[in-house]
Amino acid sequence: MSEDLFFLKRQKLIELLREEGINDERVLAAMGKVKRECFVDEPEKEYAYLNHPLSIGCNQTISQPYTVAFMTELLDVNPGNKVLEIGTGSGYQCAILKELGADVYSVERIEPLYLKAKENLETLDYKVNLKLGDGTLGWEENAPYDRIIVTAGSPRVPEPLFNQLAIEGIMVIPIGDTYSQDMYKIKKYLDSTGKIRKEIKTYKEFVFVPLIGKEGWDYDL
Ligand code: SAH
Repeated sequence: MSEDLFFLKRQKLIELLREEGINDERVLAAMGKVKRECFVDEPEKEYAYLNHPLSIGCNQTISQPYTVAFMTELLDVNPGNKVLEIGTGSGYQCAILKELGADVYSVERIEPLYLKAKENLETLDYKVNLKLGDGTLGWEENAPYDRIIVTAGSPRVPEPLFNQLAIEGIMVIPIGDTYSQDMYKIKKYLDSTGKIRKEIKTYKEFVFVPLIGKEGWDYDL
């Protein structure tokens, strides 16, 4: 499929996201720039601009574009923000965060995906800090983060991630059982007595692959 055709399909997808209620122009512009076809293998490329999840191997998927846009909108990224992503997958979400001007850190637990994401991002010249490991423990050395986005479904908020979130920081994370999850937007703030608090808003209803690790699901499904 030609570059031009992908470009046209990408513009159509952006119109669809608008119709579906995504209205942050920064997010729409970022989604209009990142070549989703470059984050999947050949048989999936022709479906890259359908509003569907896509297989990336190892039983994992990139979320459908609407979900990526919705989460990114909730995350409210500003240029220069330090952002931690858990669940690098293909690297697509990292590219969207880079287009928003973030300084991006991302952790993946499956080695072949980590390696592929590294290659995808390097090929497109996105400079991202990637780590292979259990992301439920966060990435302590570079904390605190202004924003944390978890792209796999968790039974709860992993405590190390909340600890590594900056005051006034925002975390977006799907929480539920292994069949479906609600999206949580969590703001960390200090109350008038100086105590750390969470302000939580939730949005129904999503389906993610499981977050597997010490502070997530503790088994392989
Ligand atoms: N954000 C990705 C899609 C993520 S799919 C993209 O844009 O392509 C969810 C990913 O989370 C999978 O790759 C899965 O292996 C990973 N994952 C699950 N549990 C994890 C953990 N504890 N730490 C890091 N990654 C994890």
